[in-house]
Amino acid sequence: MRMTVIGTGYVGTVHAACMADIGHEVLGIDIDAERIAALSSGRAPIREAGLDELLARAVGSGRLRFSTSLAEGAAFARTHFVCVGTPQRTDGEAADLRYVDAVVDGLAPHLSQGSLIVGKSTVPVGTAARLGRRLAATGSDAEIAWNPEFLREGCAVGDTMRPERLVVGVSSRRADAVLREIYGPMLRVGVPFFSTDPATAELVKVAANSFLATKISFINAMAEVCDAAGADASVLARAIGADTRIGDRFLEPGLGYGGSCFPKDIRAFAARAEELGAGEAVVFLHEVDRINTRQRRRTVDRARQLLGGSLTGRRIAVLGAAFKPGSDDVRDSPALAVAAAVQRQGATVRVHDPEALDNARTAHPDLTYAPYVPLACEDADLVLHLTPWPEYRKIDPAALAAVVRDPLILDARNSLDAEPWSLAGWTLHALGRPWLAPSAALAGGAS
Ligand code: NAD
Repeated sequence: MRMTVIGTGYVGTVHAACMADIGHEVLGIDIDAERIAALSSGRAPIREAGLDELLARAVGSGRLRFSTSLAEGAAFARTHFVCVGTPQRTDGEAADLRYVDAVVDGLAPHLSQGSLIVGKSTVPVGTAARLGRRLAATGSDAEIAWNPEFLREGCAVGDTMRPERLVVGVSSRRADAVLREIYGPMLRVGVPFFSTDPATAELVKVAANSFLATKISFINAMAEVCDAAGADASVLARAIGADTRIGDRFLEPGLGYGGSCFPKDIRAFAARAEELGAGEAVVFLHEVDRINTRQRRRTVDRARQLLGGSLTGRRIAVLGAAFKPGSDDVRDSPALAVAAAVQRQGATVRVHDPEALDNARTAHPDLTYAPYVPLACEDADLVLHLTPWPEYRKIDPAALAAVVRDPLILDARNSLDAEPWSLAGWTLHALGRPWLAPSAALAGGAS
């Protein structure tokens, strides 16, 4: 089938490349001419496992092209996926819908009869209905459907090719049929397909993100209590997670969530519920947000305590800049927020990340960066482990002990294996866990 994918960021680039790979003819559209030029020559604007190969194949096959023109898009296809950003408004917590509105307004005068606009951006419930009224006012008969995106950065291609579920919110049988045909290859291998109304589809996305954020903040709240009580939140997390009704995923105590989705989606959901008169129902989301933000402060406070009450003049190595492993995205990265905060308190900070150094440098030119872990850690008084890249679990603690000034590490992600660090002479602290002295016996481990 023919389709356009409008907005070629994380979601749009991956969606466009995957749709072309499963056999559709796709035109990717963006207002960023530089991005479109790079994509046309097969260069992805983001780093995602498997994306470069997929993009090269799709562009090479002729099934994927790019343009900056919505008029060309409307002439090319009758199905248009909208993947533009919906950031937090600068004047409040609600979502800024100006980019979504601009796409619909820009398409409207060019649309052919019977067009289908399919939103993938994360939007407040009621957006599809509002956009439908806006389109109708222009005399267009186009339908607006919503098909929220659930991909996770770091495994975006895999998530798009083999999603755990597809959700579409439609107002007609025709829109349902078009989307079933587009996603045919996924449906044929048994991917669950939930076809519902647009409002429910819009809500599924924000409800899912709210649930996951709540799970993360729940375990971080438990970690705060564990710290106060001298208990071990990582054992607690594993023990409660062993209950299959609870499950152990997204139950790792630590620095909390960040990125371009959870923080703004949770706030936008609470703001929209308030507008609808249902604010009381999701008042807990404000607490989820507060707990999450507090973990960044707790990490900085703990770093200061570990260095005797002041960060002034101390050298701190930061492991991790991306908001999560597997991605070079640094938008609202907890790691960079902590790095910047400890520097503001007088420390000299050197940041390492396996993938995100370029983006980190652009977002925080004030910080110093190192391409290798030992370089970041040279003469450090304290190492902060802030993004749980698998690479960091493979560090040789004995070799790293030789380059630092003091073998002191704060594992703010609770993901390093404490024993080898301790045996190599490090003092390892973690959020929500009793600290481990060098070569201390492992206390509290599950057996
Ligand atoms: P992004 O910022 O990476 O990309 C947005 C793109 O849209 C940019 O390339 C921008 O130039 C383009 N754009 C803006 N206005 C445009 C216009 N009028 N016409 C054409 N292009 C335009 O955003 P993203 O991370 O891909 O997120 C897109 C949406 O998907 C958001 O609503 C987000 O919440 C949601 N989402 C994101 C993820 C994720 O992991 N990033 C996952 C699920 C859902």
